[in-house]
Amino acid sequence: TFPALLIRDKDNAKAELMELSRSDLPDLPVLVRVDYSSLNYKDGLAVTGKGRIARRFPMVPGIDIAGTVIESDAEAFKPGDKVIANGHGMSETAWGAYSAFQRVEPKWLMPQPEQFTQKQAMAIGTAGYTAALCVNQLLAWGAVSVDEGSVLVTGAAGGVGSYAVALLSSLGFSVTASTGRPETHAYLRQLGASNFIDRQELSEAGKPIQAERWSGAVDSVGSTTLANVLAQTVYGGAVTACGLAGGADLPATVIPHILRSVALIGVDSVMAPLKRREAAWRLLQAQLTPEQIDLATEGEVGLADLPEAAEAILAGRIRGRMVVEVA
Ligand code: NAP
Repeated sequence: TFPALLIRDKDNAKAELMELSRSDLPDLPVLVRVDYSSLNYKDGLAVTGKGRIARRFPMVPGIDIAGTVIESDAEAFKPGDKVIANGHGMSETAWGAYSAFQRVEPKWLMPQPEQFTQKQAMAIGTAGYTAALCVNQLLAWGAVSVDEGSVLVTGAAGGVGSYAVALLSSLGFSVTASTGRPETHAYLRQLGASNFIDRQELSEAGKPIQAERWSGAVDSVGSTTLANVLAQTVYGGAVTACGLAGGADLPATVIPHILRSVALIGVDSVMAPLKRREAAWRLLQAQLTPEQIDLATEGEVGLADLPEAAEAILAGRIRGRMVVEVA
């Protein structure tokens, strides 16, 4: 047997540490030893049972895997291969990472990015890969250029935010970080932010159109924050929306879109097609320094301590990222 976190059913939605055996695992073609995983906001919601993430029960949560192939019925993978998986419905409809062994679909797997160790790949994890999807979308839109204005990152001291700051600053952008934690300014400056605004300045309801401040933005907060960001984006600028840490609503008007051609680009990491995933991991490999990854890693936890860490991420107490030591 081996350890795993399991959510029994929707009335017992808090994940519990227990022992599973290989025969408990789903009948899928690739058996992976899960060496490392990570803790994302969504994992916090799943593990504590505070968000309805799991849609099938029992469920093993965990949306990020860095592992080693043990057995494979799929041609693309053989025993010993180092692989990663991000999203693909793990934690929702499919068993995920918080189990020392897991069986997965081959199409969920990518070879571990060459430039990163397993631990680094998970220090980046879904949060970092999502930040890269967002940055690639801003670049593809063509709205942002390094000579023009500042790019804003909201929820900057969180996982997505930290990696968005690191990537954008490595690419040469002037980055403004919005955070509710002034004590993280020195950290965010080391990651590459050059200006700061207080989270509260963006979270109070504002006018539908405001002074132009941002050439682009990566938003992981949503709600009134996203509405204000759209209202403050320059003519022709673009904002990527990937999160709801501040709320799932969007109390906005069409005014910034119809008067300033501001684009709102939605970003999903879970079902993103392979080409976009590969481009995101290429960007991460090209732009991140090992120092940035170290800096953005708050620490490591094992499966036993994960429920406590899950509460901490939901309470906004984690700076950057937590790596999970699984095997
Ligand atoms: P995280 O590490 O917890 O970061 C979230 C950050 O948001 C916090 O660190 C905090 O930043 C800020 N925040 C928290 N509560 C807030 C509030 N009430 N009002 C305003 N700001 C608040 O989480 P994460 O893993 O980076 O994920 C961030 C968001 O993106 C989550 O909503 C997550 O579900 C979403 N996400 C979506 C995708 C996708 O595929 N679309 C992928 C990954 C993540 P400061 O302390 O700096 O203010």
